[in-house]
Amino acid sequence: MASIFTKIINNEIPCYKVAETENCFAFLDINPNAEGHTLCIPKQEVDNLFDLDTKLYNELMMFSKKVAKALKKAIPCERVAMSVIGLEVPHAHVHLIPINEMKDVTFRNKVTLSKNEFQDIANNIKSYL
Ligand code: AMP
Repeated sequence: MASIFTKIINNEIPCYKVAETENCFAFLDINPNAEGHTLCIPKQEVDNLFDLDTKLYNELMMFSKKVAKALKKAIPCERVAMSVIGLEVPHAHVHLIPINEMKDVTFRNKVTLSKNEFQDIANNIKSYL
């Protein structure tokens, strides 16, 4: 069965899209640690990030770097953190999280955003790409 992220890529499930290339896709995390929390994924459905073939892994890292730079410009923050978890969705992904303190990457503090706020944030990040 297709992963929830494959369904997002195929437009079967909505998302707040940030960026797309031939092989990669970025969208806002629906349960964000902070405003701008973004997921970068390969379109190929592989469970574990570290099982991606090297070419696609490198491509995803370059893609994530570009998105992170735009995120840093769009969202005031000390740093953009990169996390790899993968306990919930078995489709490789990188979390990009705007942070000001260590606790912002613990996945315990969550922010609630309206649809309009999600859309405005996605548009804002896109404007720096
Ligand atoms: P993990 O697999 O532990 O790295 O966590 C998966 C992440 O995907 C969590 O932060 C979820 O909030 C996020 N997530 C799950 N479903 C969706 C969705 N439909 N749209 C956006 N983000 C999602």
